[in-house]
Amino acid sequence: MYFLDPKDMPTHWYNIQADLPEPLPPLLHPATKEPTRLPPPLFAEALNEQEFSTERWIEIPEEVQAVYRTWRPTVLHRAYRLEKALDTPAKIFFKYEGTSQAGSHKPNTAVAQAYYVKKEGAKRITTETGAGQWGSALSMAGAMFGIEIKVYMVKVSYNQKPYRRILMETWGAKVVPSPSEDTEIGRKILKEDPDCPGSLGIAISEALEDAFARDDTKYSIGSVVNHVLLHQTIVGEETRKQMEMADAYPDIIVGNIGGGSNFAGQFLPWIRDKISGAKPDLRIICVEPMAAPSLTKGPYAYDFGDVAGLAPILKMYTLGHTFIPSPIHAGGLRYHGMAPIICHLYKLGLVEARAEHQVATFEAGVKFARTEGIITAPEPCHNVKVAIDEALRCREAGEAKIILIAHSGHGHFDLAAYDEYLSGRLEDYEYPEEKVKEALTHLPEVPD
Ligand SMILES: *Cc1c(COP(=O)(O)O)cnc(C)c1O
Repeated sequence: MYFLDPKDMPTHWYNIQADLPEPLPPLLHPATKEPTRLPPPLFAEALNEQEFSTERWIEIPEEVQAVYRTWRPTVLHRAYRLEKALDTPAKIFFKYEGTSQAGSHKPNTAVAQAYYVKKEGAKRITTETGAGQWGSALSMAGAMFGIEIKVYMVKVSYNQKPYRRILMETWGAKVVPSPSEDTEIGRKILKEDPDCPGSLGIAISEALEDAFARDDTKYSIGSVVNHVLLHQTIVGEETRKQMEMADAYPDIIVGNIGGGSNFAGQFLPWIRDKISGAKPDLRIICVEPMAAPSLTKGPYAYDFGDVAGLAPILKMYTLGHTFIPSPIHAGGLRYHGMAPIICHLYKLGLVEARAEHQVATFEAGVKFARTEGIITAPEPCHNVKVAIDEALRCREAGEAKIILIAHSGHGHFDLAAYDEYLSGRLEDYEYPEEKVKEALTHLPEVPD
């Protein structure tokens, strides 16, 4: 294990926009289709600046560093027992984000966002959550900075997965099942369909409507956009120092991508060596679920990030904003699009992508639990699966490659999924080609 002393925690986030070979395509306004910023009433000004900044290093405010130090630096592990079980000459490392209070990487941005919102005088933040990982991270951050958090939680998850709701409420957040009676759009949907199970798209629309309606309220998003990826680079910057302690440089870095924030947080600090030409052979493998394979199957096109079409239009690999992925257990990977930064790097050929079925990922998760002891969340089970595949390839080839796993969190609230796997009830979902084809007919028209 490689521990970093808290006094050696990085003091700056790394901004990839300083080093991109070509700039990112602009965001477009949902109505005018003209280049736009994030809607200013919804986001703190500092976050809107970070979104488009091309400054290479952005200082982490002292107050944010202080909260980071309540769980950071996180540990870099060498997976000796997994290596031995696989009988591979490969060296496998993993950087583990499951030791944050909320159990994942998500507080890295939640804390920063709560800080800037507070600093600029707002008192309240709205957001949406599916299974509750993002909502719980923001609720924890709200408690740390004394900000009121209102979470619109997709109704099926609210009813089926009470534990994360209880976490959020314990941290002081107000949680309502979405669709709710608290917004116009929620009331309209409930009137037409009182039993509507909700969706992430509806929950986003409610959180946006709520924040637009009040002067004291901002809206917060947990992945996809540039400033979120920026905040997550603390993970990769720490890892660089720790890999140096281990006297190792990765040949392969592997991570899961839902909206792309945890993996970008790990690999962006490394990819600058590939862009500069110092490490041309570095491989970066993005792993997505077969049920929502945006990079591997989607077109690179402008699309809405949200179902209601209220937020700016993003250029990304997408399955269409009306596409609703099958209910795989890796809830954090059920998103129709992908972070524009990752899409841009994929387009430029700087990262690779692979899609995996869920049963095989849980098989890998169980192997990991029985060797390294950690119960892995369903999302990082995807990259553990690919890391094992690569380590076995090294065994065939007799190559001692260095593999780095971006491990985004623990699975203590996902034990029902493990139960399904262990009892043989877990199923794969085939790639829904027809549903995606249909959803892609609803892409917005944009000028060339
Ligand atoms: C939310 C989540 C993800 C997926 O989101 P990204 O923005 O792609 O990182 C992955 N792992 C865990 C543990 C999560 O909570």
